[in-house]
Amino acid sequence: MSDTEKLTAALIEAVAKTVFDHVAELTDLDQAIGDGDHGANMKRGFQEVLDKSAELSGMALPDALKAAGMALVMKVGGASGPLYGTLLMGLGKELAGKELDGDAVTGAFGAAIQAVMARGKSKAGQKTMLDVLVPVHESMAAGNRDLAAIRQLSSDAALATVPMLATKGRASFLGERSIGHMDPGARSSSLIIQAVCDVLQKGQ
Ligand code: ADP
Ligand code: MG
Repeated sequence: MSDTEKLTAALIEAVAKTVFDHVAELTDLDQAIGDGDHGANMKRGFQEVLDKSAELSGMALPDALKAAGMALVMKVGGASGPLYGTLLMGLGKELAGKELDGDAVTGAFGAAIQAVMARGKSKAGQKTMLDVLVPVHESMAAGNRDLAAIRQLSSDAALATVPMLATKGRASFLGERSIGHMDPGARSSSLIIQAVCDVLQKGQ
């Protein structure tokens, strides 16, 4: 296996593992302010990506991201499948043909988040996954390349959704009763970012 193949395989394995390890927690969070399917949705989606790991690892990373995003869109019924699918497809599209350094990843991450916002008709501050994705991107755009700090920031940002009022997605149907619970998609985003940081840190 080449180094890029190893990196892609390691990223897929780490993200799938953290999703599988936290299915019950994501289910509980979505039971509190949604319909309880976020754990199952994420598990189904990332099982599909894991099943395709050999095929994806043989591709260039941008193509693998696009293919993984497509798999999520096809396989996951809930809101999160198309949104995470859009994020990964956007990353793949933006990274195509670029050297994969911190600046390229930061730029692609920003463009992919814009695509998620367009698809979800949403923005930061509405108690969704964007409340993790946006602050992490902002920190990277300000020059933060410290993986341990990015890891911590994603976890702090997920925690910061607890007191927020949901104004998008299913949790918004609860109005004020959405306050006091962590957003499930914010938690899954923080788990995925942490897994990616761990893999990249090991490679440093
Ligand atoms: P569903 O809401 O269809 O049951 P999931 O439970 O899998 O789908 O995912 C719910 C998560 O998706 C929420 O916690 C939130 O983070 C995210 N989400 C839902 N709608 C939007 C949106 N319009 N924009 C951004 N994120 C959203
Ligand atoms: Mg749900």
